[in-house]
Amino acid sequence: MMSLILKMNDAVVFAGHLLECDIKTFDFYACRARELTNIHYGNKRMFFNPIYLSNVCNCDCCYCGYRRSNNDAVRKTLTPDESLQEALYLKDRGINNILFLAGEYGHDEYVKMLEDNIAIINNVVKPKWTGVEVAALKKKAYVKLREKGVKSVILFQETYDLKKYQKLHVYGVKSDYYYRLYSQYRAASAGIEEVGLGVLYGINNWFCDTMAMIKHGLSIKEKYPKIKLRFSFPRLMKSKGFYDYKSSYRVDDATLYRIIITIRNCFPDSSLVITGRESAKYIMKVIDVVNVVGKGGKTSVGGYNLKKHELEQFNLIEGEDLKIFFDKVSEKYEIC
Ligand code: SF4
Repeated sequence: MMSLILKMNDAVVFAGHLLECDIKTFDFYACRARELTNIHYGNKRMFFNPIYLSNVCNCDCCYCGYRRSNNDAVRKTLTPDESLQEALYLKDRGINNILFLAGEYGHDEYVKMLEDNIAIINNVVKPKWTGVEVAALKKKAYVKLREKGVKSVILFQETYDLKKYQKLHVYGVKSDYYYRLYSQYRAASAGIEEVGLGVLYGINNWFCDTMAMIKHGLSIKEKYPKIKLRFSFPRLMKSKGFYDYKSSYRVDDATLYRIIITIRNCFPDSSLVITGRESAKYIMKVIDVVNVVGKGGKTSVGGYNLKKHELEQFNLIEGEDLKIFFDKVSEKYEIC
């Protein structure tokens, strides 16, 4: 036990050093991060797209277009047939990995909605990988989702600063900081293969939140040594009605790169995810260190087929030529 604690402490000290070290040291570890990604993932890069199942939400996270106080929102929950159409659309575009997302509302009805939608897609479309980024759930709900084929459960803590968290998350399931913090443990104990963590960069001090996320990951690994970890690095994007987009906590490109390099050095075989929040240009800069990319998707319910429900959870970058991006990626990497 003592040696494990020391090991954890060593990792935390190492991470703190990397987040603040000089350029020469950083370059050394950046090189090591690229090597580690190559050792564990070779030239394979997993691409996924989201399917938003519902924008009905009982929470009120101020940075999110789906929040309950956004009265302009047209609310919609997909039927299983509608979500199947979304999945078939993605399959036609060559996307074999699907992340399901939904706002957070009434518990039993909510879990049933997730089960029904995910089951039909896993039975008919058979994606290679299925993940969920939904409300924090009880262990028995994670068991049900695993039985429907869910491999990965992702919950961003957004910020690990309790006071800040409570200020930003005032209603609903998400207002319970500790219930959310321990979700990955419940998912792991339910037999889920992989759990995801993330900080929403731009709402609080990036250094403190990154260090806390690393400790969170180490602690999950300590309790469940076989669990796979997945780290995401979302940066705050503008959303409809959000009043604090230009927060002083914004994280620039170089700092985000440093965070990604640090996480790869601390968790050599974990999945590191860069999402469509980032520009194609930036993704090309980090793609030799991350192994999962979520570009080209929609953040609205029915965004691929049902054009009339266009409320986005957050705004994506417009005007990018994604064909050029995918061609460039394919020149060097095998997209899977
Ligand atoms: S972040 Fe999630 S829980 Fe919060 S308002 Fe948006 S959809 Fe609801």
